[in-house]
Amino acid sequence: MIRASLKELSTALATRKISAVELAGEFLDRIEKRNPTLNAFITVDRDRTLAGARLADQRRAKGETGPLLGVPLAHKDIFCTGEWLTTCGSKMLSNFVSPYDAHVVERFKTAGTVMLGKLNMDEFAMGSSNETSYFGPVKNPWDPRRVPGGSSGGSAAAVAARLTPAATGTDTGGSIRQPAALCGLTGLKPTYGVVSRYGMIAFASSLDQAGPMAKSAEDCALMLSAMAGFDERDSTSLRRETEDYARDLAKPLAGLRIGLPKEFFGEGMDADVRAAVEAALDEYRRLGAATVEVSLPNSGLSVAAYYVIAPAEASSNLSRFDGVRYGHRAAEYADLVDMYCKSRAQGFGEEVKRRILIGTYVLSHGYYDAYYVKAQKIRRLIATDFEEAFKVCDVIMGPTTPSVAFRFGEKSADPVQMYLSDIYTIAVNLAGLPGMSIPCGFGNDGMPVGLQVIGPWFAEAKMLNVAHQYQQVTDWHARMPGDAA
Ligand code: GLN
Repeated sequence: MIRASLKELSTALATRKISAVELAGEFLDRIEKRNPTLNAFITVDRDRTLAGARLADQRRAKGETGPLLGVPLAHKDIFCTGEWLTTCGSKMLSNFVSPYDAHVVERFKTAGTVMLGKLNMDEFAMGSSNETSYFGPVKNPWDPRRVPGGSSGGSAAAVAARLTPAATGTDTGGSIRQPAALCGLTGLKPTYGVVSRYGMIAFASSLDQAGPMAKSAEDCALMLSAMAGFDERDSTSLRRETEDYARDLAKPLAGLRIGLPKEFFGEGMDADVRAAVEAALDEYRRLGAATVEVSLPNSGLSVAAYYVIAPAEASSNLSRFDGVRYGHRAAEYADLVDMYCKSRAQGFGEEVKRRILIGTYVLSHGYYDAYYVKAQKIRRLIATDFEEAFKVCDVIMGPTTPSVAFRFGEKSADPVQMYLSDIYTIAVNLAGLPGMSIPCGFGNDGMPVGLQVIGPWFAEAKMLNVAHQYQQVTDWHARMPGDAA
């Protein structure tokens, strides 16, 4: 069943072809075999997973139904899970068991999914390669010498290697879309406020958003329908009608207007990525879509603005990790201040410390106006650019990343090089827009390439339709590592 879609799994469970216990067992066996090399999971607990699967089988025996009842799933280790360890990829939380479930985890529990484990990630979701995880890097299943992307690299590698049918991820600057692109998956970052952030460990609160990472747009639609919805425990959660995100999947694309930002198609994109993206655009034209050039004149400022705003918010959010209430506490210290200092010095890795320093600096008296306020103004301009562009198109398309997956160590010595790998994704977070990555072919050395689809606020159903129709006429999304080329 490892290649099956969520819908196929759902049908197999509903018709009793397989039980939730058998299905979970199949994936657990695969995890046991493959995870020691891939390092996609931080926590696996066979007994706990099987207990969850038994519960799903019991619910079904009592007459309950539901599209996700008994379907196995794994969560990025940024989501608080009662009973399971929640590390956020950090030594700081390496001993942390949350007293409650995140909203997203709760939603999936209600839907009856079976948790296979907690997925590796860059420390506190800061990174683009999974090299900042305290638990070691995750390998890209397409080539273990290469990174899976980040920060949701564990989620991406696990789905790509078919260790789980689907996974949750979070995206602050690209962390769902970039790893989805580098591992050949479909991933969706929803409009800011659509999915509750309650119980999702905060990195940059005005940018963070959870979303699905799966094999296809259809699977993402099913997952997003379970994840989304108002939650009063998150003050930025939007009060909106619940949606069936699969409702428009079958709609034909004739007449679709695709905007191509000239800034995304200039220099900076590798030739192999460009070739795959251009071929995908041709496919869309064959499906009846028309392309039109648009401009996002301020998008070149997005990485700079992001690396002021995100660290500023992170420096504030991470002040809660002080060794007092939970998390790592230094074994020896002279007094209270020394305890704070030593616990934080020992608990945080290098990249996290760098962000806290940058954030504290840009928020400090005398620099606040020059950096933080200016970055917020740029953020507004970027959002306005998108609003203008969407006057002449329904969705925007371009590359998700400038290159295919890079090798370990290639960018980790130079933070700015690493930051640039999110050059096409970050503007979307700054504007609060929904963004997707879908597999659109293979580039150099047979590595997957992702096509980015960006929509206006709340256009998730439309974007999923756009992605699904492409996946009806292509099979890039169905390929898995190890398949014959
Ligand atoms: N790579 C970006 C960063 O390090 C984005 C991370 C994310 O989206 N969580 O900040």
